[in-house]
Parts: sequence; structure tokens; C-alpha cells
Amino acid sequence: MSKVVKVLKLRPTTGRVGGNRNSRRALVAGGAGFLGSHLCERLLLDGYEVVALDNFHTGKKYNLNTILHDQKFTCVEHDVVDALPSGLHVDEIYNLACPASPPHYQADPIHTFKTSVIGSLNLLELARRHDAKIFQASTSEVYGDPLVHPQPENYFGNVNPHGPRSCYDEGKRSAETLFFDYSRMFSLDIRVARIFNTYGRRMQPDDGRVVSNFIVQALRGEDLTVYGSGRQTRSFCYADDLIEGFVRLMNAPQAPLHPVNLGNPVEFTIMELATLVIEYTNSRSKIVHRPLPVDDPRQRRPDISFARENLGWEPRISLAQGLARTVEYFDALLYGGHLVREAAVL
Ligand code: NAD
Ligand code: UDP
Repeated sequence: MSKVVKVLKLRPTTGRVGGNRNSRRALVAGGAGFLGSHLCERLLLDGYEVVALDNFHTGKKYNLNTILHDQKFTCVEHDVVDALPSGLHVDEIYNLACPASPPHYQADPIHTFKTSVIGSLNLLELARRHDAKIFQASTSEVYGDPLVHPQPENYFGNVNPHGPRSCYDEGKRSAETLFFDYSRMFSLDIRVARIFNTYGRRMQPDDGRVVSNFIVQALRGEDLTVYGSGRQTRSFCYADDLIEGFVRLMNAPQAPLHPVNLGNPVEFTIMELATLVIEYTNSRSKIVHRPLPVDDPRQRRPDISFARENLGWEPRISLAQGLARTVEYFDALLYGGHLVREAAVL
């Protein structure tokens, strides 16, 4: 049963709103999360009426503060695993509902798997009922610990089906299966993005992913916890770049017949990231090593040729620029912008 969030404004979401609705309505499942809240903002700017649907597991109501009072915005508290509110009419659906950080998705692995699989089924059925276009936030985790580097979309991956990461990896792989079967069986217009590590404003300080962990640790003067040797690599994309990729993929005149990698192709070791964060925060923190989590991928870098050639998309914001913005965000959140003000007078 869906619950209306009392503190948030709820506008009617049934029917075609008297048939006089002149803007298109987008549903963002996971809309109160890190990426979801940025996407809701962007869609409102693009003229959409936006309904965010979220169970607030890792998302926060305050992520929506900037848009809460927008006449065209509605938020509904709901778990995508449960049947969706009846009569909700939508033209476009973005499925971002799923915890993305390893500690969060491993906390209740069965619910994570259900979120990806049953949640996708519920949203695909909604799309089918309204002939809506539907977007799936898939992940580079479908490549597992990749044996092909960088990863092109036609690489099938190297995934452990029964490890602690499997609830997320296999859940997202199953969701891709469902999306493409709905496309083949019902000619549904689907768009599947495989997202590589993305960071930026509105990550939670306790999110557990590496960029937020390192920045928060550095700002607090705590040791930076590098798991394993730190020689494993990731490629970090700033959130604004990624959201532009989402919109371009959703608006492409022709639906690609396969998932599309979206991420920044510049690769860093985790030790390099830790060193950069210490430098940008001017922190006295030290680096300490902690055990490497089971099945932690050793390398990851997207091949974004398809997105470049067909969507005219590639990231514009360097890691240096993105880290500076993210440090500023966490400094303001944790210390009221003290660090940034100090830097300005130096
Ligand atoms: P996030 O945890 O901030 O956002 C997920 C949102 O989904 C949260 O608001 C959460 O409350 C909501 N949610 C979780 N389970 C739900 C459920 N059962 N019903 C309704 N809402 C639910 O993470 P994010 O980084 O913003 O990720 C958004 C999406 O993008 C996720 O699907 C994630 O798998 C995917 N993704 C993100 C990254 C990344 O680097 N940020 C990488 C790959 C894929
Ligand atoms: N990591 C780390 N210290 C942390 C958090 C993560 O060294 O405090 C490492 C983690 O082991 C992985 C990389 O950073 O090798 C990226 O981890 P994250 O959880 O951000 O994303 P994912 O593993 O899903 O790519």
C-alpha cells in the first residue's frame, strides 16, 4: 500500500488530469536518492511534471528541498516491490530505485534482489499499461570482476552468482533480462544505461562508497581507509555529466538495441584517489589499509564509444573539478563551509 509522505506535497496522480495536462509526466523511482534527486530537478527544468517515488531507504526527503514547492512536483512514499499506486498515469519512467552502495545493498540482500527484479517487473507493467517509455539504471557491476578492459557493452562479464555482491549484480542483470524481454515481447520502448562509479553533491556522509568516505574522513581528520593495496582501479563520473547522459539516452530518437555504458573513461587507482582527496582537502589525514571486500573488482573503465558516437555524450567535468565541488558540498554539510572560507582567505 503506498503511503503519501505527509511532509511532502501530493498532487493528483490519477488519470490524465482532466485531459488538459499539457506537460509530459515522468515518474522517477528512487527519486529521493543521490542521482534521483538530481534527475527530478533536471526533468522539472525540462518542463516535465515529475512524480518521485521512494521508500527512503537510502534516499532523503531533504534531497528534494529545492523542488518540493514546485507546482509540477509530487513525491510518494512507496516501495517498488509492492504493487504500484493504481491509476498512476505516466508518459516516461526512470527506474533508479535500488541501494547502490555495497554496505547498503548487502544489509538486506534479499530485499535488494527483490527491488531489482520485482520492482522492475512492477514498473515495466506500469509502462506497458500506459505505453510509456522506460529507463533502467543498470550498472557496471554487471561486468563483475572484468576480464576484458576497458569494458564494452558486448562483454558479458565475470560475475560470482552466489557471493555477497551477487544480490546487486545478479539483481541488475536479471532486471536487464526483463527489460529486453518486455521490449521483444511487447515492443516497449526501453532505455538501459550501465552506470559506472558516479559521485557528487547529495551523497550521504555515511553512504559507504569510496569518494564520500574519503572526503568525509579527510574533512574530519580521520585516517582514509583504503581497502586492500589500493591498486584496484575505478573511473569516476561527476553526477551532472551522468544526468546529461540519462536525458540524452532517454530522448534519443531510436532506442539502442542494447545497454549503453555511461561513465567517465579516465581511470584512477584507489590510492591515487586517496592522495588527491588529501591534497584537495588540505588534510593531515593518513592512509590506512583495511581488508579488501570479497569479489571487489580489480579494474573498471567504461568503453563509451557508443554514447560518444550515437548520443554525442561524454563527460565534461574532470575528477579535479568534481572533487572540488564535492568537497565544498561536504564541507558545507558537515562544517557550514568552514574549509572553503578558510581557503578563500589564504
Ligand atoms: P541511492 O542509494 O542514493 O539512491 C537509490 C534510491 O532508491 C534511494 O532514494 C532509495 O531510498 C531508493 N530505493 C531503494 N530501494 C527502493 C525500493 N525498494 N523502493 C523504492 N525506492 C527504493 O543511490 P544512487 O547512487 O543515487 O543510485 C541510483 C541508481 O543508479 C540505483 O539504481 C543504482 O543501482 C544505479 N547506479 C548508481 C551508480 C553510482 O555510482 N551512483 C552506479 C551504478 C548504478
Ligand atoms: N573502497 C576503499 N575504501 C573505502 C570504500 C571503498 O578503498 O572506504 C574501495 C573499494 O574496495 C573499491 C573501490 O574503493 O575497490 C570503489 O568502492 P565503492 O564502494 O565506491 O564502489 P564499487 O566497489 O561498487 O565500485
